Amino acid sequence: MTRYEPVIGLEVHAQLRTQSKLFCSCSTAFGADVNLHTCAVCLGMPGVLPVLNRHAVDLAIRAGLGLGCTIHPRSQWSRKNYFYPDLPKGYQISQYDQPIATDGQLIVEVDGATSTVRIMRIHMEEDAAKNVHDDLIAGNRSYVDFNRGGTPLVEIVSQPDIRSAAQAAAYMKTLRQILRYLGVCDGNMEEGSLRCDANVSIRPVGETKLGTRTELKNINSFRFVQQAIEYEIERQKEVLASGGTIVQETRLWDTQAKVTRSMRSKEEAHDYRYFPDPDLPNLVLEPSYIENIRTELPELPAAKLKRYTTELGLSNYDANILTEDAEIALFFEKALAVFKKPKAIANWVINEVLRKLKTQNDDTAAAATLTDAYAQQIGELVELVEDNIISGKIAKDIFADLKAGDSPKRIVDEHGLKQVSDVGSIEPLIDEVLAKNPESVAKYKAGRTNMLGFFVGQVMKQTGGKANPKLVNELIQKKLS
Ligand SMILES: [Zn+2]
Repeated sequence: MTRYEPVIGLEVHAQLRTQSKLFCSCSTAFGADVNLHTCAVCLGMPGVLPVLNRHAVDLAIRAGLGLGCTIHPRSQWSRKNYFYPDLPKGYQISQYDQPIATDGQLIVEVDGATSTVRIMRIHMEEDAAKNVHDDLIAGNRSYVDFNRGGTPLVEIVSQPDIRSAAQAAAYMKTLRQILRYLGVCDGNMEEGSLRCDANVSIRPVGETKLGTRTELKNINSFRFVQQAIEYEIERQKEVLASGGTIVQETRLWDTQAKVTRSMRSKEEAHDYRYFPDPDLPNLVLEPSYIENIRTELPELPAAKLKRYTTELGLSNYDANILTEDAEIALFFEKALAVFKKPKAIANWVINEVLRKLKTQNDDTAAAATLTDAYAQQIGELVELVEDNIISGKIAKDIFADLKAGDSPKRIVDEHGLKQVSDVGSIEPLIDEVLAKNPESVAKYKAGRTNMLGFFVGQVMKQTGGKANPKLVNELIQKKLS
């Protein structure tokens, strides 16, 4: 039996986070009524001229720099010609042989083992529109929604350095994380802001030549990327084992049947007849312009993770959770600026804030929650607990009802929630509880020391949760010994 090795390269399309389209001022907002965000330019009317969106160029440069690429001072716009209903001009404006960035890399981790995947190129292009075949909307017809047409994208093309489906999924996850950190792309895969094509081939172990590849189109989740590639590797192995040959073709992942299906073969494949776009001059970037963007790059996840463990003393586990998402990391740092105990703040953010966020189950709503004011509230709350001003129980109660504009310190003052830590006022309550529960006291004295929790609970209840539980514990134990 021949042993085979998979060879995988990914082409990821990331929608740039701009307000307007690449060559006109139409809005890029997702979810608008069909054909609302259109104009003569993005509808491809004759005689109109594209005007480049400078902010999209900034973001493409950020993406390139964040992924360690060389940014080219001169790149070129080309027309990619094909005829399809979602492409009103009959061509897509893209970059071909002179892209904006080349030769970067991404460090990917799978099961604790890291590997480097080289990035071949990043080029800018406009998105196509969207065909609507959905019977519910279109009945027996097909329509085109041009809202997406002309939205700015970068296509990030890796070298075929990926060797497993798991590594491909990890690559996509890490790429999404970095693009979100950079503010280049919102990474919303359900809305199609990030999607990928995977080129998959296999070859006998030891062989250096590439095998014939198939292209898996338009995958929009980490899970699907892994499943589709796994399936495709096995399918190709079976074809070869049964004496067949792999046909170069485009295939689609059927998410229901969990199989890849042939969409078109190489013979039908497009010949795009690229040529430089006569309407757009070369994109020429001053070196100082590129350098300015470089100085504005944020700290990226790998650097942040390292700093959290070495400088802040957090565990690898905590640091990983906090740096997974740029917004969460930023929120943690803002709360930490209010009260400088990293471990205590980390615990609150991870155990309380993130747990609460998960119930929202929506990235946008979650991001909107993580405001500066909220970070201030969390910082205050942790400070109150750590300074023994309120008990953990009271802190959680305050947290549960926290509203915008609330100040935990003010709530504690106004509602008299300060922790009671003086023996003089707690002792009488303990005596009362013990006197009321002689049977429980007897049990305790007979060796049922787990009754302690019951007594502590009763005293805490008497004080509305305000007694210092540690002190209550000590006092009861002393009295019953
Ligand atoms: Zn437009």
